[in-house]
Amino acid sequence: MPLKALENELRLLARNRIQEGRLPSSVPARAWAGRGNDAPCSLCDKLIGKEDIEYEVESVAGESTRIHRFHFLCHAAWQLECARHEHLSGAGRKR
Ligand SMILES: [Zn+2]
Repeated sequence: MPLKALENELRLLARNRIQEGRLPSSVPARAWAGRGNDAPCSLCDKLIGKEDIEYEVESVAGESTRIHRFHFLCHAAWQLECARHEHLSGAGRKR
């Protein structure tokens, strides 16, 4: 798949998951990167293998802390959608 098409697909998926509340709508302050451990990605659901870099972020919702894991590209796509979400909600507040 061409990279641009993959990026569009991942960003759409990220947008949907943010709307459904399955992924946070803002990027948490803390993130870690390391080798994958065959755990499923929070965005594309594919396993993050040992040959891949895994990005791990922690989000706090009320009392509970959730861990989300991403591939490099999935993490980038999710961050872009967080920025978009914040931009849109920020613009909404001004009107
Ligand atoms: Zn992924």
